[in-house]
Amino acid sequence: MNDDLRELYQDVIIEHSKRPRNYHPLDQSAHKADGYNPLCGDTVTVYLALDGDTVKDVSFQGHGCAISTASASVMTELLKGKTRAQAEDLFRTFHDLVTGKAADADPDRLGKLAVFAGVSEFPVRVKCATLCWHTARAAMEGREEPVSTE
Ligand code: ZN
Repeated sequence: MNDDLRELYQDVIIEHSKRPRNYHPLDQSAHKADGYNPLCGDTVTVYLALDGDTVKDVSFQGHGCAISTASASVMTELLKGKTRAQAEDLFRTFHDLVTGKAADADPDRLGKLAVFAGVSEFPVRVKCATLCWHTARAAMEGREEPVSTE
């Protein structure tokens, strides 16, 4: 990754962490799951409204580092309107990216997720970035118990 691109990606992450999108609860009927990353202290609650097999609406609240907040913010933008299968596919793509297994991935396929490519250089940050995705998956499956990255 060249320095210009790295800087651009960092700017996007900082911007999302300062002004997170979809940062609010959804109404009572929505699925809800809590996640915790003990390594960093990040907490996140993901709200998810399904319409059949499609994510009708998704939002989050939480406290954590810039990476965890920005990741949740970008995730909510991406998940809305996706089917369960598409959401699962995005999660797998994202996981490969931040764990360094998607270095040659098609940029079109990564889309907005590409801004987190630099996370793969900081293994301790991987759980910060994936916490919201694990939590969203739990919400989608209607699991009640809190998600921990440990
Ligand atoms: Zn963190």
